[in-house]
This record gives sequence, C-alpha cells and structure tokens, in this order.
Amino acid sequence: MTEKREYSPAVLVHSESCPDAISLRARGVGLIPMATPAIAQAYPNGRMHNCFHFTLQARGLVETVQYPPHAYEESSVIYPNASMPLCAVCMGTHSALDRLILPPGVR
Ligand SMILES: [Zn+2]
Ligand SMILES: [Zn+2]
Repeated sequence: MTEKREYSPAVLVHSESCPDAISLRARGVGLIPMATPAIAQAYPNGRMHNCFHFTLQARGLVETVQYPPHAYEESSVIYPNASMPLCAVCMGTHSALDRLILPPGVR
C-alpha cells in the first residue's frame, strides 16, 4: 500500500568541484555535502546540475533553490507516491508551499 506524500521544490545537486558551487559558497550560500545515495533517498525529485550525475559521483553538494513565487503548473512528471503531478516550475507538489501565507497578489 502506497501512501501519498508531498514533494518539496526540487533541490539542485552539484559536484564538489563545480565552479558554480564554489561561487555560491563564496557568496555565503550554504550547500549541504551529502553522500549520493543519501541525496537520492532524501530528494528523489532533485535536479542534477550539469556538473553532477548520480551514477558518476559518490558525493554531492545539495543547493536549496529559492524558486520565485509562482502558481502550480501541472507537468507530465507523475510519481506514484506523490499527492499530485509535480509542478513544471519547481518539481514540488505545492500543497506544502500553498499552505504558507504568501503576500497578496502572488497568486
Ligand atoms: Zn554544479
Ligand atoms: Zn511550483
């Protein structure tokens, strides 16, 4: 029996030598170093930056991406255990997001 779950907006995964990751860190953006299998488990909808591939790197750096406020846009990506098709913009299910109080005019 599968239980439906929510997906948070997708993280972006970098390799430890990625120039983007290095410049993000230089700007004070926190990146979380994790073992690749742990990333895959924790962030099944995570996106790979062009520097990273799940089968090639043993470790990655997880960037929490701040997506601009947007309306849910249904994509063709459907996870069997997701409460709804993933959003085309952020790859999340939005239910969690939409419970947050957004400033007026965002939606
Ligand atoms: Zn990268
Ligand atoms: Zn979205």
